[in-house]
Amino acid sequence: MTIITDALCPFCGCVCDDLTIIVENNKITDIKNACKLGASKIMGHHRIKAPMMRADKKSDFKEVSFDEAINEAAQILFKSKRPLMYGWASALCEVHKKGILLAEEVGAIIDNTATVCHAPSTLAVHEKGLPSATLGQVKNRSDVTVFWGSNPVHAHPRHMGRYSVFAKGFFQEKGRKGRKVIVVDVRKTETAAMADEFVQLQQGSDYLVISALRAILSGHADVVPESVGGVPKEQLVKLVDTLKAAKFGSIFFGMGLTQSISRYKNIDNAISLITELNAFTKYVISPMRGHYNVTGFGQVCTWETGFATAVDFARGAPYYNPGETAANDVLLRKETDAAMIIAGDAGAHFPADSVRHLARIPVVQIDPYWNPTTEVSNVVIPVAICGVEVEGTAYRMDGVSLRMRKMIEPTLPTDVEVLDRITERVRELRGE
Ligand code: SF4
Repeated sequence: MTIITDALCPFCGCVCDDLTIIVENNKITDIKNACKLGASKIMGHHRIKAPMMRADKKSDFKEVSFDEAINEAAQILFKSKRPLMYGWASALCEVHKKGILLAEEVGAIIDNTATVCHAPSTLAVHEKGLPSATLGQVKNRSDVTVFWGSNPVHAHPRHMGRYSVFAKGFFQEKGRKGRKVIVVDVRKTETAAMADEFVQLQQGSDYLVISALRAILSGHADVVPESVGGVPKEQLVKLVDTLKAAKFGSIFFGMGLTQSISRYKNIDNAISLITELNAFTKYVISPMRGHYNVTGFGQVCTWETGFATAVDFARGAPYYNPGETAANDVLLRKETDAAMIIAGDAGAHFPADSVRHLARIPVVQIDPYWNPTTEVSNVVIPVAICGVEVEGTAYRMDGVSLRMRKMIEPTLPTDVEVLDRITERVRELRGE
């Protein structure tokens, strides 16, 4: 029996690094400290056992060799005039690097899961920057914590316990008792039920409410109407007083802010609110990134291409214009004629019209798990699980890079090996 301590969890953006893993005969038999989401991923479920192919989407899959599947994947990408390579958030940075190289080789658009979650945050950060902090600073210092359009109880189950609410920190010895927790959301979530103050706003009114808070903060409460976005002015004034009273305040925002009306302008406005709060006291703002290494893709893509996501290599050089070059833009316009989905699940998370288009075109899936994308795929290549069977680098939601450990030996090839072999085969097809 082997006991691995201080192991990292490859599920959500918290990347908890205090797990204990019990391994017997190359099998994980027990996990300590992980939440249910992390434990379920590490223990493995719905694994794809062997490569599979089918002639058309109505036929059943037939098991094939890795050579056949890799050859077919390379043929699909090689023949495509407008390939899309999407996913990446549940893979390590080493995989991202190989994927960007392959995208360049075949002139693909490469995009990641942020396109349906925090890509608007990236656009706002381009314009305003991000006054942020590590989760360690939040744990040690934050005495007012705001969750805006995010529900960590469900999506990041150990965030509140390890970093933001219940954790005891260097300057926050009392843990929960020393912190004020505010939730701003359109409905009373599980997180809201645990908060000191819940601000319920009407759907799509985040921009208005942030603007009202900024007006009150700058001494212009007189121009704010009696109710903004369904929130009484009195509650907004009280909220500004609470925010100003903090010694160190932090706002964690989620898809309730990034994907509601006004999208990136919501984040832009929220960053301005933070900048203005910093005239009174110390404030930081952070996105609640979902998958454990969605932040890492943004990093690798930026240092490789100059852009964080939605990069189009059709011209031979990186071109980026979200709204034109993001995964759903090319799918909804029916522009892309083949797709490779890796370490992400477009079938589960994309709009119905995008998934319908994926069902019409050749799709290659590279993933350890059977998921809705498998149902629209022609070629399925199973791989080892990054962060469980493969070591490498991931970026936590606060941008801190961490080294993921290998817990057991893989029985399937790694993403890097598969991408290397597809790239090699594409070059052969080109006669190189
Ligand atoms: S909170 Fe996230 S990173 Fe931590 S154990 Fe749960 S799923 Fe894993």
